[in-house]
Amino acid sequence: MSVTNWAGNITFSAPEVQRPSSQAELRKLVADSPQVRVLGSGHSFNRIADVDGPSGTLLSLAALPASVEIDTDARTVRVGGGVRYAELARRIHAQGLALPNMASLPHISVAGSVATGTHGSGNTNGSLAAAVRSVELVTADGTTRVWRRGDEGFDGAVVSLGALGVVTALTLDLEPAFEVSQRVYEHLPLVELDFAAVSGAAYSVSLFTDWRGPHFTQVWVKRRVGAPAPAFPWARPATEQLHPVPGMPGGNCTEQLGLPGPWHERLPHFRPEFTPSSGAELQSEYLLPRDAALDALHALDAIRESIAPVLQICEVRTVAADRQWLSPAYGRDTVALHFTWVADDTAVRPVIARVEEALAAFGARPHWGKVFGVAAAELRARYPRLDDFAALAEEVDPGGKFHNSFVREVLGGRRRPTPGRAR
Ligand SMILES: Cc1cc2nc3c(=O)[nH]c(=O)nc-3n(C[C@H](O)[C@H](O)[C@H](O)COP(=O)(O)OP(=O)(O)OC[C@H]3O[C@@H](n4cnc5c(N)ncnc54)[C@H](O)[C@@H]3O)c2cc1C
Repeated sequence: MSVTNWAGNITFSAPEVQRPSSQAELRKLVADSPQVRVLGSGHSFNRIADVDGPSGTLLSLAALPASVEIDTDARTVRVGGGVRYAELARRIHAQGLALPNMASLPHISVAGSVATGTHGSGNTNGSLAAAVRSVELVTADGTTRVWRRGDEGFDGAVVSLGALGVVTALTLDLEPAFEVSQRVYEHLPLVELDFAAVSGAAYSVSLFTDWRGPHFTQVWVKRRVGAPAPAFPWARPATEQLHPVPGMPGGNCTEQLGLPGPWHERLPHFRPEFTPSSGAELQSEYLLPRDAALDALHALDAIRESIAPVLQICEVRTVAADRQWLSPAYGRDTVALHFTWVADDTAVRPVIARVEEALAAFGARPHWGKVFGVAAAELRARYPRLDDFAALAEEVDPGGKFHNSFVREVLGGRRRPTPGRAR
């Protein structure tokens, strides 16, 4: 049986997934294989996790012990490379602690999310990678290498696209547990939108639009309980539990209507016990300087007649600047423009090209885990530390064991061939 990603739009080139059940087995597999890629929870929409052909080793860490070691005094957690956010969040919360933020769903693996610069929303919330204090990697020869925040190369080793080695553990910053209340508001017009005020109205704010008109269909406002609760006068409060995608059941979503609850049951949009959708979708996302948000939204509004027919929903979020070289939020406070498309690659690709054209002027950085067509030369201009990452990859993995065609394309051939080493 073939191996596919969550959405089913990618069939991986390896005939099966190897699932080592001990560190020793993992090290041996890595040392003995000519090419290795790790598959997290498979929620990316492109070939980022793939191997180049049937002889490559596609690894899952899901059979390793799901280690979650919490240090309540230091407020940190060391989490194994195969653990998903749902499990991590439950264990952290039980100790009275919290992650600063979460993505829209808790089903994704921590290591896979961090590797692609995955993020939630909030003007002052960094990407999930921003919480990383240290990274432990099994490198090409099967030995372990550790980077701690402050070490040379640390800022390159966190959002790694899986190109440096197997992440066997990450240590993350935690904070005291907190409660959040979530309210959804309906129909926010784009005209005269005060983006800074709306996105700054609470700890985490997401705006949704189907681009069938110049407005947002829903705005999800997640307030920390105890923080000032300014009014949200720009749209009307919903009176029932809603799903952002029209026609989908609101019951799959985390509790709304202002009922306070624990951080991990409000910050994601979707409940862990439900699949957020059928998987019949493709996704793209572009991250650009936040002060260009309004201009970028108007640029999309100008082509909404192309976007709407192939769109399920578009989500607009904010992310605070971080220091990770390949993070889409590197060095700049960011607005993230996300598209959940229909599951029709042929129909969607030309529209993605139009969106990329419309957003090019803003230096939009594509999300590494989603569908994009931005050429390597452009990526280099938009990700200013790509060359530094290529140099780090060359130092850590001189034979390119952890590279695949996706990574080579992204690095645009900027790895010097290493004399005497097979590629
Ligand atoms: C329904 C849905 C909702 C989403 N919501 C969001 C969202 O809110 N915000 C957002 O930013 N993104 C979102 N995404 C995108 C998703 O977060 C990313 O694609 C993320 O990488 C998924 O994690 P994963 O474990 O499935 O990674 P995979 O797709 O399995 O892998 C991604 C990359 O990580 C590498 N990797 C995984 N594990 C390891 C490891 N242990 N060691 C080394 N490399 C590893 C892989 O090799 C690959 O390069 C969403 C995706 C879906 C399907």
